[in-house]
Amino acid sequence: MTPPYDPDNIFGKILRGEIPAHTVYEDADTLAFMDVMPQGEGHTLVIPKAPSRGLLDAEPSTLTALIATVQRVGRAVKTAFAADGLTVFQFNEPAGGQTVFHLHVHLVPRHEGVPLKRHEGGMADNAVLAEHAARIRAALDDAA
Ligand code: AMP
Repeated sequence: MTPPYDPDNIFGKILRGEIPAHTVYEDADTLAFMDVMPQGEGHTLVIPKAPSRGLLDAEPSTLTALIATVQRVGRAVKTAFAADGLTVFQFNEPAGGQTVFHLHVHLVPRHEGVPLKRHEGGMADNAVLAEHAARIRAALDDAA
């Protein structure tokens, strides 16, 4: 059986401000921030503020807000990195590849012929993540 939502997961801690994140976007229902182990330059995560482990236990209203932010931030990520495309993915439960049990959607800008790096390959430099987050925030401002 699937365990219940545990608020002590790492994204729950980010939402409560207990650990830092390179935030690119926030509204009443969602938060977007840089993945610390990017599978490509600009790898960004979008999460709902409402608690759910994954896609399958989320309220439909949570998903409505989440997908709107995925599109909004996805456009900015693609623009900020002058990408040719955008890969969007989401995992559910350990067997599905999930390691952090608060619903999240991955956004990775893609360039022709450049493969994705390994999932959870290595920690990125903090200064680099800060610069990438600033680039995405600027693209969001330009789109507003
Ligand atoms: P998954 O649950 O497999 O979809 O992946 C969880 C993702 O969260 C991985 O890509 C990790 O690199 C990322 N991650 C883990 N801890 C943090 C953190 N503190 N801040 C940002 N991203 C994180």
